[in-house]
Amino acid sequence: MQVWQPAYIGVGSNLSEPRVQVRTACARLADLPLTEVVLTSPLYASRAYGPVAQPDFVNAVVGVLTRLEPSALLAELIAIETALGRPAERQRWGPRIIDLDLLVYGRERRSDARLTLPHPGIVERSFVLYPLADIAPDLDVPGLGRVAELAGRLASDGLQRL
Ligand code: ADP
Ligand code: MG
Repeated sequence: MQVWQPAYIGVGSNLSEPRVQVRTACARLADLPLTEVVLTSPLYASRAYGPVAQPDFVNAVVGVLTRLEPSALLAELIAIETALGRPAERQRWGPRIIDLDLLVYGRERRSDARLTLPHPGIVERSFVLYPLADIAPDLDVPGLGRVAELAGRLASDGLQRL
């Protein structure tokens, strides 16, 4: 069994009462095996970006301590997505009932077919960096730098705290 590791999970939804979906996903994270939720950010509303017109998102970031390996934690996140009704085939950029992204796992840096760490979207997404800065401003994202500095360089892009 491995040691406890800090990890940060991005939660987003823009379908079927997104706030309820985000809160439900946070409750499911609290029920994960070998994992303790330490901090949950406030909820934010963000505009959907990309080529598909779709409803606004609700986003939050959850900080955990976990003894699950990164791949096991990712498998649990995907299981929660499925349990909340996310279809297996995924339309990239499309609306989604729930999206759980493993943003950071300890000092891990990896990129393989299933899992990239840190999550590649972090630096350009205010809906990730702003809530992450609420709960972990001093976190040093492996290869990228301190969260408060990364967030300070990024326009809020209409992000609104709920
Ligand atoms: P996105 O969240 O970028 O819009 P999807 O949620 O549709 O994309 O894609 C999920 C897939 O991305 C998962 O099946 C998973 O294997 C892969 N993936 C790679 N790295 C990560 C990560 N750090 N967190 C979550 N999923 C990841
Ligand atoms: Mg995802």
